Amino acid sequence: MNISRFPRLKFAHLPTPLEPLENLSKLLGGPQIFIKRDDCTGLATGGNKTRKLEFLMGEAFQKNADTIITQGATQSNHVRQTAAISARMGLSCEIILEHRTKSEDPEYLENGNVLLNRLFGASIKTVQAGSNMDAALLESAEEIKKKGGTPYIIPGGGSNPTGALGYVNCAMELVGQINDSGLKVDHLVTATGSAGTQAGLLSGLEGTRSGIPVLGICVGVGKKAQEEKVFDLVQRTNEFLEISGSVNRDSVVANGDYVGSGYGKPTEEMIEAVQLMACEEGILLDPVYSGKGMAGLIDLIRKKHFIKGDNVVFLHTGGSVALFAYRDILTA
Ligand SMILES: *Cc1c(COP(=O)(O)O)cnc(C)c1O
Repeated sequence: MNISRFPRLKFAHLPTPLEPLENLSKLLGGPQIFIKRDDCTGLATGGNKTRKLEFLMGEAFQKNADTIITQGATQSNHVRQTAAISARMGLSCEIILEHRTKSEDPEYLENGNVLLNRLFGASIKTVQAGSNMDAALLESAEEIKKKGGTPYIIPGGGSNPTGALGYVNCAMELVGQINDSGLKVDHLVTATGSAGTQAGLLSGLEGTRSGIPVLGICVGVGKKAQEEKVFDLVQRTNEFLEISGSVNRDSVVANGDYVGSGYGKPTEEMIEAVQLMACEEGILLDPVYSGKGMAGLIDLIRKKHFIKGDNVVFLHTGGSVALFAYRDILTA
């Protein structure tokens, strides 16, 4: 697999560490758990969107864009990382935030990622839950063009084939790390939302014939809808990479049991996972993605889904800034 032919700007701190979670593994008494620290990608408190943005911003740069437009939920980590890299590149950044969770908590509305978006000087527009966000992006791009600007649109979560290249790259990085260290990896577990992370990982892990299966823990929609979303993007990513036909539908696996009442809505299991990781490992998860992802992993370990001798890697996708938007439920 060759991704060097795609435009890319290198600003992520890579490779991210792969570390054992000794205390949590011992406490749960199941497989050995390892963590791939994509919360440490370095851009404005890090997270998984940074890898995608290396390729997306590479394309924006190639197209001489002067304004980056993107969208996400109010506490989007993707939007925060996009605002940060836009600031660093001297580009304007226009953000459209969807009030998806309908929370009226002022911490949710103004703290966490929203506070950072403002610090990075992005211009922010907020729209109702359920708005047509793709249409809003196009509308915003038209307005910029009318004023003589050159917009570049990044879809929600940076999840298109260009963004997914960031996780093709992560898959290759991980395979390199485990080959170097002699670690046998039986499963890779990650939170899955806009699908670029899981799609890129699948494309990269299958493209390298690594034999490592990926389990996505859903954070928004249910199993079937999420698997379809990931499968669609992995096919488009493979076409983009010109490696046709190597991912089969059966390898796209998501678990929808840990979403709770919806995207960004807290669950008891998420709160337990955030607290356990903090107290046992000194590692910060987040309430929307990695907390629910880890809640899924913990529950599956308790249900003996994995074999005792297995080595399981949890991809930490970041997001801890959103903890400050959920102060009420985490300190209750
Ligand atoms: C966006 C995000 C995810 C989900 O990644 P997708 O590529 O959108 O599926 C997981 N964790 C965090 C912290 C995120 O911000």
